[in-house]
Amino acid sequence: MPRQFFVGGNFKMNPASREAKRTLIKTLNDAALDPSVGAQITFRFLTVYLTKDVKVAAQNCYVKLSGAFTGEISPSQLADAGIPYVVLGHSERRTLFHESSELVAQKTRVALDNGLSVILCVGETLSEREAEKTKEVVEKQLEPVTQQLKEADWQKIVIAYEPVWAIGTGKVASSAQAQQAHADIRAFLVKAVSPAVAESTRIIYGGSVTASNCKELATQKDVDGFLVGGASLKPEFVDIINATK
Ligand code: PGA
Repeated sequence: MPRQFFVGGNFKMNPASREAKRTLIKTLNDAALDPSVGAQITFRFLTVYLTKDVKVAAQNCYVKLSGAFTGEISPSQLADAGIPYVVLGHSERRTLFHESSELVAQKTRVALDNGLSVILCVGETLSEREAEKTKEVVEKQLEPVTQQLKEADWQKIVIAYEPVWAIGTGKVASSAQAQQAHADIRAFLVKAVSPAVAESTRIIYGGSVTASNCKELATQKDVDGFLVGGASLKPEFVDIINATK
């Protein structure tokens, strides 16, 4: 079965004003979105009003289900609120909030156990790429997850390859760089999980995706969609969702 193209909009802690949020949501609700694409919008403490078949994802969740953890939200609370997806391991969480790959793997386990699907982010820094360590770094980020998950769990995982040097910088990976990293991740899944999981798991690209670079990236064999930050706050997000149309 071909992998369904998947596009996520990572709003982060945006938009800043209610007016901007209204405009953005109206743009999405009014747009003609390709129905063959799975589209997700992330939220944190914002309410998102969507009338289209666009689903809402959380940007993080905690590893425990309840208790004295002020400011955190549990996967079961997200599931109860009807949120189907959670983004875990985003580089901003790993860097600014010191989340280790082991913690991200534990969160992934707990999120799946509580009925959520997971957009799992991995990616190397510029110095790691320059030292030709991209493959090694990404595999180290994925390894603890492969230890936590059973084969059937992978149906509910989308891997987002997001090179840290490309996030929010305007420096998009070339389509060849993205394709190589995605192919390496797929080859890793063959070894670490199974050929079937490697074939069916969506690997999406994130890092300065725009309406003008998305079409070429989307032609790459192992690029199964996008996780979009800055451009998801603009009307061009519609063109990115429709990149394969
Ligand atoms: P960007 O962010 O598209 O603004 O580079 C991507 C992300 O952080 O997921």
